[in-house]
Amino acid sequence: MLSSLIRDVPDFPEPGIVFKDISPLLADHRGFSAVIEALANRGQDAGGSVSVDKVVGIEARGFILAAPVALALGAGFVPVRKAGKLPGPTHQETYALEYGEATLEVHQDAFSSGDRVLVIDDVLATGGTIRATNSLLERCGATVVAVAVLLELGFLGGREAVRPHAVSALMTV
Ligand code: AMP
Repeated sequence: MLSSLIRDVPDFPEPGIVFKDISPLLADHRGFSAVIEALANRGQDAGGSVSVDKVVGIEARGFILAAPVALALGAGFVPVRKAGKLPGPTHQETYALEYGEATLEVHQDAFSSGDRVLVIDDVLATGGTIRATNSLLERCGATVVAVAVLLELGFLGGREAVRPHAVSALMTV
């Protein structure tokens, strides 16, 4: 069971948060392979043809999942990073966290106009991170055709925050 490879770490990174640690899953070849295959499936149409040009990973754990998915699909990989990490001209989106705010960036030239994109992250919590990412991609002229996460924390309502885009979650708690 994949869920047995995700470890709950109470009170990390702050009191009251139960952190979903995917390290055991990444260390398990069969589990990691199954997750990459299932996520890559979200970038294919019903006939099994690849339906995306780029796969976006969100820093940092999204990178670990999105890069092998891009290779599996024969698509390009694009990182969405925290502020100040990308060297070239960027677009930025600032969004509210439970406490404070965060800024995400993407290179302005990361996409060709009309690129179809699969967005990947490890955990969907409140949805702010993926909503900001989708806004960044739209500002670049890309089209978000699918959003996939390994784990959705359903009780936080992130799925609603990401509308009109649908989120495909391999697991929901
Ligand atoms: P949110 O913007 O609230 O949907 O938060 C999603 C982002 O924060 C993702 O990039 C996750 O990696 C991280 N995150 C939020 N909550 C958790 C959690 N309980 N366990 C692990 N990662 C989390």
